Amino acid sequence: MNGFEDVYSKIEGYRPEIIEMQRELTARPALGPENGGTGEHEKADYAKEQLLLLKPDTLFDIPAPDKRAAHGYRPNIVAVWDGKQKGSTVWILSHLDVVPPGDLSLWDGDPYEMRVEGDTIIGRGVEDNQHGIVSSYFAVKGILDSKQGIPRKVGLVFVADEEIGSKYGLQYVLNERRDLFKEDDLIIVPDGGNDEGTMIEISEKSMLQLKFTITGVQCHASTPKRGKNSLVGAAKLIIELNTLKERFNLNNPIFKPQESTFEPTKIEANVPNVNTIPGRDVFYLDCRILPDYKVDDIINEARAINKKIAKELDLKIDVEAIHRQDCAPSTPVDSPVVTILAKAINKVTGREAKPMGIGGGTVAAFFRYEGLPAAVWSTISPTAHQPNEYCSIKNIITDAKIMATVFLSG
Ligand SMILES: [Zn+2]
Repeated sequence: MNGFEDVYSKIEGYRPEIIEMQRELTARPALGPENGGTGEHEKADYAKEQLLLLKPDTLFDIPAPDKRAAHGYRPNIVAVWDGKQKGSTVWILSHLDVVPPGDLSLWDGDPYEMRVEGDTIIGRGVEDNQHGIVSSYFAVKGILDSKQGIPRKVGLVFVADEEIGSKYGLQYVLNERRDLFKEDDLIIVPDGGNDEGTMIEISEKSMLQLKFTITGVQCHASTPKRGKNSLVGAAKLIIELNTLKERFNLNNPIFKPQESTFEPTKIEANVPNVNTIPGRDVFYLDCRILPDYKVDDIINEARAINKKIAKELDLKIDVEAIHRQDCAPSTPVDSPVVTILAKAINKVTGREAKPMGIGGGTVAAFFRYEGLPAAVWSTISPTAHQPNEYCSIKNIITDAKIMATVFLSG
């Protein structure tokens, strides 16, 4: 048996322990104060006990002060195995917190009492993000039990507060201990993915929501010349804003859709009766912008279009960004975390994984803002936040093998 096969067979033998750990984690609801909880302490304490069994070289807390939480803080845990070789570290970051179960009548059982049905584990948190916690834990254990020792430095990070925005979780960890992470480290965030485990998320689009207010003069519908019709202005403006698609027309094949999107969505009610020409109209545009473009350039172009239509129709048009989230820099397609992870996936499953981009934000963005290339990946059916959230034991075992393969890659 070569080194890899030995580790893989060890990991395959952990099925009962995987179920046990999932059960214990699920039984400790880790809800943030916004979700009616007191934080992640119980779950963090259990995770720490388990980590100690794997004898990390260092294990420490980065408690984030939060008066609303039990003991006045939110727990973040870091465990590091130094490895035999010097060089970059492989980090796997998972989050401890869960979202509330929601409507209990939609659950087939107690959300915090984990159930096993064949290969499936059901309970709040089993996928989001205990899949990540458990698979990374058993990846380390597999190597330790194979007695070959961890070759390179490996760190497991379990953070708080991911579901609400990471202020007391990864953001705090990076503020306090930015020094832990180096630009050439491999950072994997197993908190997103697809059923095949072939999606390595490396990039996000920026998000921009614009509110347009068109002001004219209201009057009776029979005498249009006495007023200025704001609805005609809104209609013309909506059509003209379509030119944003031509102006910002780059394609990026890692995204689906490949292009930036600029979609008019909501329109507010104007006048209540049909025989009045409206003097005020408000509508919204939802934009998902490829990382190639600056959000400010979109806003400026929208302003220029406004100006043109306002002049043409003698109306006043205001635009306001009601929501804006500039994307983090993308993790390069050819960065080591992407290539080494893709190779490991291929070795374990024979599948070809591809770097991809998504329309919304992930916790990995906080690493990317710091210039740290991070990849979001796991083999999961996305059931996060759903009633009867579930995950597959087979997938946990597969991902543990893939992570162990990354740890073993020199
Ligand atoms: Zn998550």
